Amino acid sequence: MAVLATVEGREVFESFGVSAIVVFYVLSLVAILIFVYGAWRRFAKYRRGTATGRLTLRRLAVAIGDISSQRTIGKRDPAVRVAHFFVFWGFMVLLVGTTIIAIDADIIKFILNKPEWQFWNGTFYVVYAFLLDLFGLGFIAGLLFLGFKRRSEPFRLSYERVDREPDEYDRSGYSLDDRAFLGLLLFIAVSGFLLEGFRIAANDFPSFEVVAFSGWTIAWLFSWMGEGGNELARVITWWVHGLSALAFVAYIPFSKAMHMITDAADLLFTDPDSARRLPDVEDSAAPGYESLLKFSWKELLDADACTKCGRCHEVCPARASGAPLSPRDLILDIREFADRSAGIKLWYGPGAEPGHPDAVEVAGNVIKTETLWACTTCMACMEVCPVGIEHVPTIVQLRRRLVDVGDVEAGLQTAFQSLTRAGNSFGKSAKQRARWTKGVDPKPKDIRTEAAEYLWFVGDYASFDPRAVEVTRTVAGLFGRASVDFGILYEGEHNSGNDVRRAGEEGLFEMLRDNNRDVFGESQFSKIVTTDPHSLNTLSNEYDLEVPVVHYTEVLDSAVSSAKLNLDSLEASATYHDPCYLGRYAEEYEAPRRLIRATGLDLIEMGRCREDSFCCGAGGGRIWMDDSDLDERPAENRIREAVSLGEHVRFFVVACPKDMVMYTDAVKTTGNEGRIEVVDIAQLLERALVTDEATV
Ligand code: SF4
Ligand code: SF4
Repeated sequence: MAVLATVEGREVFESFGVSAIVVFYVLSLVAILIFVYGAWRRFAKYRRGTATGRLTLRRLAVAIGDISSQRTIGKRDPAVRVAHFFVFWGFMVLLVGTTIIAIDADIIKFILNKPEWQFWNGTFYVVYAFLLDLFGLGFIAGLLFLGFKRRSEPFRLSYERVDREPDEYDRSGYSLDDRAFLGLLLFIAVSGFLLEGFRIAANDFPSFEVVAFSGWTIAWLFSWMGEGGNELARVITWWVHGLSALAFVAYIPFSKAMHMITDAADLLFTDPDSARRLPDVEDSAAPGYESLLKFSWKELLDADACTKCGRCHEVCPARASGAPLSPRDLILDIREFADRSAGIKLWYGPGAEPGHPDAVEVAGNVIKTETLWACTTCMACMEVCPVGIEHVPTIVQLRRRLVDVGDVEAGLQTAFQSLTRAGNSFGKSAKQRARWTKGVDPKPKDIRTEAAEYLWFVGDYASFDPRAVEVTRTVAGLFGRASVDFGILYEGEHNSGNDVRRAGEEGLFEMLRDNNRDVFGESQFSKIVTTDPHSLNTLSNEYDLEVPVVHYTEVLDSAVSSAKLNLDSLEASATYHDPCYLGRYAEEYEAPRRLIRATGLDLIEMGRCREDSFCCGAGGGRIWMDDSDLDERPAENRIREAVSLGEHVRFFVVACPKDMVMYTDAVKTTGNEGRIEVVDIAQLLERALVTDEATV
């Protein structure tokens, strides 16, 4: 090929004198030293955190896959994934390209003095030039798209706070840094292309350089300047490009650019199960985090990894309902506090304060008490976060501290007292727990004295709340028809403790768990089925049981698929609400949908479904707390979403006793009685079984 027939390659310091080269190397060294110093300060900050073992081979493989494919960036926004993919790989290829030059020119030629070993020439150079042009263009296109996105989504990407008045904070520095980061990258990329164009034109268009198609085009555009003009432009642009690249290296550890490193590390060490299985309390005399000194290094890394993308801010049900909680701001507050304590100062302002003490109370001070109590532990923030930040365990650790010092919301305090006294949040005597079985035929076995395949862990709401009890009786009837061999614990069952633990009362959780485990030990069964997705989580992940734990929809799904329950067809449309603890926590999305479709109903999905489901507002102990001060309860927000699907959607289908309670209330308070009906999946099945008497 003619293109490859000439001498392919170029001089790095073409026409530069020795003094110019020395100046450049000195400035490079300064930039690298600033980078190393900044990175070391950050590393020293993480070393102040407590230990946490994390890295596994599987996690390493998943993180490499996620980073290279940019999968996590695409959550709920595939276009951003594509743009970020181009930016990421563009940056990586340009970085590798620069490293190749450094190895070839600095190490092989300058330090080792082995010009015969140089490889940045010939075919290698031609391929190199083509790839750098291609990926450089993608890099610029991706940056432009992300810049446009930042301007077009002011809500998600603004730094407006929900827990402070506008005059109580100043986040203009964040916006400035966002613009500086994007602008600097764009400037380096564009000046690189200009430099290439001026060089090609100044060298009279070497034929092999045609593969650098962008630079070639720029050279053609500026050919009117002549070789002399292009040579002058080349020298000026060389310095502008080189110095801006060095400035960027020095800027990284003191700016948003650090996320290029911290995000990769965070994804490497993240534990996707950390909210499902909360950490145990190590020091029962001082549970939770009373100061920054108790934070793990991963939590300090989390704080630095936040890119301020605002996705968690957008999906948080507490934020949406007007509560003073934004998971993004919680993480940023921890970051600023940790930076102040570690003496790290960022270029745009926030950071070190001389003499700032470490041992300042975080819960109720750095993070407001009402902010911490607003969380429903729905896990939407963790699910959507592209960089593996674990908000929920940190919030629970801070709640543990609030509980320890008695800073507890009044309704929650009452629930704790009832749970301590009676083993259930309703404060009812244990003997009333199985009152729902009255009239159920055949009467459920007492599994403490009679063996069964399934231990049915009914749960508090399904046992005591009249609206949920109706469903419980229906489930018992369906289990009977399907010949499911089950028994219950009667007064031996205690609250599972899932929400107690997430409300920060670890001692009470341990007591409830131990009581349940004791009675499990006295019973004979091979599986556990539960009606309550919250109990499903803690029984599956925090009880260290050796038997499988399933949700009742899974048992009914198997009964329907094996024709133990035969259904007629209902004719109507329904929408289904994925409970957080069945969906995001247990990742069970299909069994409930199969059951709904088995009844013949037309299932219309809400926009926020499956892993994007919107919390009802009950989790994490919120169901026991006063929510009268919210602008709009999460359950009301959800009912409005369901109603907006259209008049034809008659059923709002649930699969959690707490949802039955939350949504029947919300239908009333939003004035939608008679418009949409809240039904449990079990009730739908029962109606499909008896179509002659169906009310559909
Ligand atoms: S768990 Fe849910 S309520 Fe809590 S901060 Fe995250 S998104 Fe908000
Ligand atoms: S915590 Fe995660 S989702 Fe939230 S703003 Fe930061 S990076 Fe985005």
